[in-house]
Amino acid sequence: MSTTVIDSDFIREILLEVKDPEIPTISIVDLGIVTDIKVDGDAVYVQLTPTFAGCPALKIMEQMVRDRLAQEPGIAKITVETTFDKQWNTDMITDAGREALLKHGLAPPKHHEGYLELDVLSDTPCPYCGSRNTTLKSPFGPTLCRSLHYCNNCLQAFEGFKPVG
Ligand SMILES: [Zn+2]
Repeated sequence: MSTTVIDSDFIREILLEVKDPEIPTISIVDLGIVTDIKVDGDAVYVQLTPTFAGCPALKIMEQMVRDRLAQEPGIAKITVETTFDKQWNTDMITDAGREALLKHGLAPPKHHEGYLELDVLSDTPCPYCGSRNTTLKSPFGPTLCRSLHYCNNCLQAFEGFKPVG
């Protein structure tokens, strides 16, 4: 009989199964919001750094992490904490995560270098045709985390994942 070794790599691996409730193609790991994992025997600590303080999905995500960890027989104590100590930024999204956003029809955020947010948003590449000839319709999409764009090339409206940093 083999026993699974529960370490932070293992926890990270199973948390890949926990998807963002708003964007089901991306895991919370690839979104970069799992900012710390500690394992002490059968006790597991997971720290989440939310993308936006106002994101309503926050409590849902905490619960999803708890529920997933609770399925592992070797884990007895689960602590999930949301912190605002660090600031999440869109550069924390992994390459796999950027691809997952694109698959969902969301323009992945550009890597920001400290310039103004609206500049970052202005020529967001279209997730459908890749054209940068796009117009920012609104910095606020259906949720705080999204922006609304319009592609002047393929004439489709699309949402962007709003870059923050
Ligand atoms: Zn387009």
